[in-house]
Amino acid sequence: MNTAEQLEKFIDIMARFTVYTGKYLPDDVYAKLQDLREKEDAALATIVYDAMFEDLRLAHELDRPLCQDTGVIQYFVQVGSRFPLLDHIENALVEAVKKATRLGPLRHNAVEVFEEKNTGNNVGKRIPWIDWELVPDSDEATIYVYMAGGGCSLPGIARVLMPLEGYEGVVKLVFDQVTSYGINACPPLLIGIGIAGSVEVAAKLSKKALLRPIGSQNSNPRGAELEALIEAGLNAIKIGPGGLGGENSVMGVHIEEAARHPATIAAALSTGCWAHRRGVIKIKADMEYQIISHQGVVL
Ligand code: SF4
Repeated sequence: MNTAEQLEKFIDIMARFTVYTGKYLPDDVYAKLQDLREKEDAALATIVYDAMFEDLRLAHELDRPLCQDTGVIQYFVQVGSRFPLLDHIENALVEAVKKATRLGPLRHNAVEVFEEKNTGNNVGKRIPWIDWELVPDSDEATIYVYMAGGGCSLPGIARVLMPLEGYEGVVKLVFDQVTSYGINACPPLLIGIGIAGSVEVAAKLSKKALLRPIGSQNSNPRGAELEALIEAGLNAIKIGPGGLGGENSVMGVHIEEAARHPATIAAALSTGCWAHRRGVIKIKADMEYQIISHQGVVL
């Protein structure tokens, strides 16, 4: 396969995978929703969960996106230094989004700042947003697709805490924000928390925390303990599915951290909704692919 043929194949795979991510929840999210549904007794909460599963069934049956909100499309790329299309990935992902928008079809969601004009193809300045990690001595690319919906992005916040606020300040920020704005994000929520020395690092890590599989833990035992404590505390509020009350509030709490400045803690929150459209695909140098987030799927 020459470079042009590889490029065509890569764009086609990523377009079809982006469309697929918009129509089918990843396995871990689906399983967690089933788990939360089984724990519900409250009449209204069970109705809301059942409506979610009916929505998923209809999306499958009618071959349509599972939520009307395409979100702003983001790609988190872990690309090997020897991946053959390294120089072309950015343009290829832009073309993949345009193609996915036609194929889906996906609602047009990219609005240019200042012009206040919808571009009509989900592509705009710096959108799709692409986050890069270069993997040494590898010829593969692992790409996360994330559809950042309006509602589920709404509770997002990042702040540098005052020196004496400590880790308690991180917890307070999360609880204040979730109790004030969480219901806008179509609960049950996935909570991503970033802790770092400056606000942009914390913000980025809070989003990366949402990419972790539900049920995974922070690599540091204290981080894992804090995740469990925050999850228990948020569930005790009983926000319930759709914010209408129920046994639980969240699908999980994930924290990612970077070493911080001695005097400051920067904390950030990103939230995912019940329709957490996160797909993970690995593409090899020969353009063969493996979908990691949705087992057994062939595009
Ligand atoms: S928060 Fe999620 S489920 Fe609700 S409208 Fe937005 S993308 Fe859809």
